[in-house]
Amino acid sequence: MSSPRYYPLELDLRDQPVLMVGGGSIAARKLPELLACGARVTLVAPEVAATTRRLLPGLEWLERTFHSEDIHGRKLVFACTDDAAVNAHIAALCREADIPCNRADAAKTGTFIVPGVVRRGPLTLSVSTSGRMPALTRHVKRKLSALLGEEWGQLAEILAEARDRLAEPEALAYDDLAETLRRDGADAVRSIIGRAPASSRRNDRTVHPVLLVGAGPGDPSLLTLGAAEALRHAEVILHDRLASPAVLDTAPPGCLLVPVEKRGHFESHRQDHINEKLVEHARAGKRVVRLKGGDPFVFGRGFEEALALEAAGIPWRVLPGVTSSVAVPALAGIPLTHRGVARSFAVASGMAGSESNPDFPKADTLVLLMALYRLEEIVPALLRAGYTPATPAAAIQDGSLPEQRLCRTTLGELRAETARLGFDSPALIVIGEVVNLSRPQ
Ligand code: SAH
Repeated sequence: MSSPRYYPLELDLRDQPVLMVGGGSIAARKLPELLACGARVTLVAPEVAATTRRLLPGLEWLERTFHSEDIHGRKLVFACTDDAAVNAHIAALCREADIPCNRADAAKTGTFIVPGVVRRGPLTLSVSTSGRMPALTRHVKRKLSALLGEEWGQLAEILAEARDRLAEPEALAYDDLAETLRRDGADAVRSIIGRAPASSRRNDRTVHPVLLVGAGPGDPSLLTLGAAEALRHAEVILHDRLASPAVLDTAPPGCLLVPVEKRGHFESHRQDHINEKLVEHARAGKRVVRLKGGDPFVFGRGFEEALALEAAGIPWRVLPGVTSSVAVPALAGIPLTHRGVARSFAVASGMAGSESNPDFPKADTLVLLMALYRLEEIVPALLRAGYTPATPAAAIQDGSLPEQRLCRTTLGELRAETARLGFDSPALIVIGEVVNLSRPQ
């Protein structure tokens, strides 16, 4: 038998007689929704699972096995016993009596299937794979749940109240309304809807602030809640190399992902190009996220982008992130400060110790970013600045990611050791006595 193409519909089951045969886990999964929809449920089962027990006050329980006449007068029948022969028998009886029947163990032999449902108030999303791959149905359902926050239910209620007054409901900026609802509450949304029709249309394009978002060192668990939310609502994400695939995976479907590189000779040109792109997408009314590794204002040129946006008259907001300079040593088991060992730490870029930038900051612990490929110059400069070759030093590559690596050595050996181990970007350097405290995680 080929698989049917099911016709989706939504039934008003209020006070309608529905039969559920079986008291196991499948019945337990289906009963709450039936009861929530107001169905008059009769449950036929010699015994019921613990989860079903608390639903019993809301239904009629016939504590016995199935009898043929149980199906009479029912609007729907669910054959959910753990005995395939019994389910087949019920399905056959229903077919004869023209009563829609659902068979959980063999969907095709029933006459209807039950989709996975995501509810946001009156807004209902039904998902199915035509009964063929329930695990995929559940996955898609979870995706949709993540896409639509609870506010969509309330939005649907508010809009339904105003429906008759809305001249052009198709022109409403629903995403913006949902966002406003989440941020500013129902009254703010009611006032937008209540205003002149022009104010609720998409064509009087609002420019959203560009969000300069810190992506943390790579592992998505180090995203802030604010960053995760900004990503969830993004329409365009401009990200650099440090934004890990795992973090980018949290972008919504349909979001435009634009990789922008800043390395190389034409760095300033590229920066101009990034600034232009940010302005262009923001002016087009898109929700733009500029996603930067770690914290946007720590060696990320984030503030330059903020100034460029300001100059173009585009509002911006920064969502700070977990900077790699602090998190990555921690994840390698190295405390940046420790009583009796280090009372201060400083973070410098790999350009410290160069001709144009000869000094290193003074602190007990020194963290160097973007320094791996300049160790040839940096190590001698540090020695000139008073560090000894025996000073403990560490390099950490891919901090927070599954491929994280630690090289623990001394300043004198740092370059040779990292080269021997084939260390690669992104990596940072920690110098100071705290390195000797490191503990494997
Ligand atoms: N804004 C970022 C730093 C940008 S500079 C922050 O706050 O983390 C880029 C440098 O950060 C890299 O060259 C490397 O030194 C360091 N870095 C970023 N992520 C890292 C990671 N996961 N592991 C090790 N170093 C990292």
